[in-house]
Amino acid sequence: MRQEVQRSEKMNVLSELAASVAHEIRNPMTVARGFMQILSQSEVTEEKKRIYTTMVIEEIDRAQSIITDYLSFAKPQAEKLEEVDVSTLSLKLSNFINPYASMRGVEIHIDMESSLLIKANSEKMIQCLVNLTKNGIEAMPSGGTLLITGFKKSAKVILQIKDNGIGMTPEQVNRLGTPFYSTKNKGTGLGMMVSYKIIKTFGGLIEVTSQPDQGTCFTISLPTV
Ligand code: ADP
Ligand code: MG
Repeated sequence: MRQEVQRSEKMNVLSELAASVAHEIRNPMTVARGFMQILSQSEVTEEKKRIYTTMVIEEIDRAQSIITDYLSFAKPQAEKLEEVDVSTLSLKLSNFINPYASMRGVEIHIDMESSLLIKANSEKMIQCLVNLTKNGIEAMPSGGTLLITGFKKSAKVILQIKDNGIGMTPEQVNRLGTPFYSTKNKGTGLGMMVSYKIIKTFGGLIEVTSQPDQGTCFTISLPTV
């Protein structure tokens, strides 16, 4: 199935979003703080210590994933657009994502034409590619190959991120980009929303083709400069 995704109606205004993300980060912090307070008391048994420590680590990991999906590379308000060659971003992208991929038995193949010029903010562009790449990797729990291709096609720069992982039903595709929608145990449900938002800011769009048990392909198209 193929579906064009232009979900402005699902997107909160920036301030609303920042507020809910702040809330999502504050929650685990509060929980972690509470456990640390208990741990600082001397009468805690060894077993409780072990349990609380594990929970503190889990809460910190949660805050960490939210930050990774939302603002690893750019402040949300960084709107400065410049001429960006997407093909030169590949190196930065693979440096960031390769350790994560190899940990999960996924090989990443990047195949980009040179000089893919767009008007964008390079940090935000990488944030978007990282989020889509991460999802592709996570969709292949028993490993596989993730293909990232980039080329020009009639005044557009096209980027494709293709996995042969678990795929999605049309209903799931439809929910993509809804804030905090996640089917994962430890998902944030922020990655897709942030990606749609970023690409929209650059005047582009993201299309999705997906089939359960077959895989997913995200196609980003952006106007060339
Ligand atoms: P998260 O990854 O934290 O769950 P995202 O916003 O990045 O949040 O993704 C939302 C949901 O979209 C995921 O939980 C998953 O169900 C679905 N999804 C996104 N990308 C893919 C993909 N490549 N393959 C299968 N499902 C995907
Ligand atoms: Mg994600």
